[in-house]
Amino acid sequence: MGQLQAENFSLRQQLETLLFEARCNEDKMRRFDQLERRLIGAPSLVELLRLLLSEYRAAFGVECVTLALVDPEYEAARILDGEAGLSGLTLLPSAASLESIYGSNPRPFLGVYDPAIHGRLFDSRGIGSVALLPLVRQDELIGSLHFGSADPERYDSLSGTQFLERLTAIISVCLGSALNHERLKLIGLTDALTGVQNRRYFEHRCQIEARNARRHNQPLACMFLDIDRFKRINDTYGHQAGDEVLRHVAGIIQSQLRAGDTVARYGGEEFVVMLPQTPVNHAKSIAERIRERISIHPFGVGTGQVLNVTISIGLSMLEDCEEEAELSSRMIESADRALYQAKSCGRNRVVCESLPRQSAEGIFFRHCIESAADFLGMLKQTFTSNRFKVR
Ligand code: GH3
Ligand code: MG
Ligand code: MG
Repeated sequence: MGQLQAENFSLRQQLETLLFEARCNEDKMRRFDQLERRLIGAPSLVELLRLLLSEYRAAFGVECVTLALVDPEYEAARILDGEAGLSGLTLLPSAASLESIYGSNPRPFLGVYDPAIHGRLFDSRGIGSVALLPLVRQDELIGSLHFGSADPERYDSLSGTQFLERLTAIISVCLGSALNHERLKLIGLTDALTGVQNRRYFEHRCQIEARNARRHNQPLACMFLDIDRFKRINDTYGHQAGDEVLRHVAGIIQSQLRAGDTVARYGGEEFVVMLPQTPVNHAKSIAERIRERISIHPFGVGTGQVLNVTISIGLSMLEDCEEEAELSSRMIESADRALYQAKSCGRNRVVCESLPRQSAEGIFFRHCIESAADFLGMLKQTFTSNRFKVR
């Protein structure tokens, strides 16, 4: 009887242990499931990375989570430029360093932490065991996710990797599609030929900057830039040479601006620039610098020839007007009018249409057309050319 009781007791204990493990697994599955749903529903690449780098650690009690992404074209670097709170993320120029860990057939690795091999993957100390998960998309190693636990037995080579493999498959798909999505956004907002922003982005940005400048009473400058006699360049040296000139000019304009400024290709051989918090004298000197740099730059084209290129620039400052919604379009129109003057005054010059006037309430602006004669000439030409389009 005593023996039967002991067996019964032992069976009960085994059953309880199994039930406990089943409950733990169920709980783990529930947490994995929740995390998976959130990963799939992440609205952007940044949110997806934040989830991976911070939420996983909290949900599963892991000490350290890091992620390496292969980014040979610096696409992720551009997309994530200026994003804070992504500590633990490394962008790699190639997959070589990951291939040296996983070999030719990438599989998850669970085991004891070896500082000589794993040290460069983690930025914290006190790690006992690690799980290294290769992220593979269409047979290509696109990154690697690393979990580090203080418990030396948490990840051991004998434990099943089913959960983690499923998770990494989902993460790989989510990362791949988030990157594609961001790429599309980027393409939708940049000009394919020159790499600067496109008109759509500029108009959107311009509205934000105009509203901010107005609210905080700060000066805002807008430039309209147009390459002189560009048609002649195309006609003489061919369209491809013209394209090369456009790319170089875009690069020169960009090189003269600060990080918060915006440059966009507005159309054909026309560029626009928005300079927040820039008073008129400063804006004028930036415009002059751009004009000068372009005029002295030797433009080498594919045919081996070197061209001289000049640019005309119209500059306008934020005007005081009633309708906030109109501010940005009025600024662009004003810069365009100034550009027209620069063209009619001989090209390769900067003309500023309106100048700011200090008043008790802040900065206001008045029309400043250099002379009445210029103004009259401009009006005459307006009616005899098709230069003024409604934009
Ligand atoms: P102006 O000094 O008065 O500005 O003269 P312009 O010749 O620069 O001006 P116009 O508007 O007559 O010609 C602009 C030319 O730009 C015409 C068009 O063929 C060319 N163009 C527009 N987009 C592109 C492009 O993407 N690549 C190339 N190569 N040429 C372009
Ligand atoms: Mg033009
Ligand atoms: Mg032109």
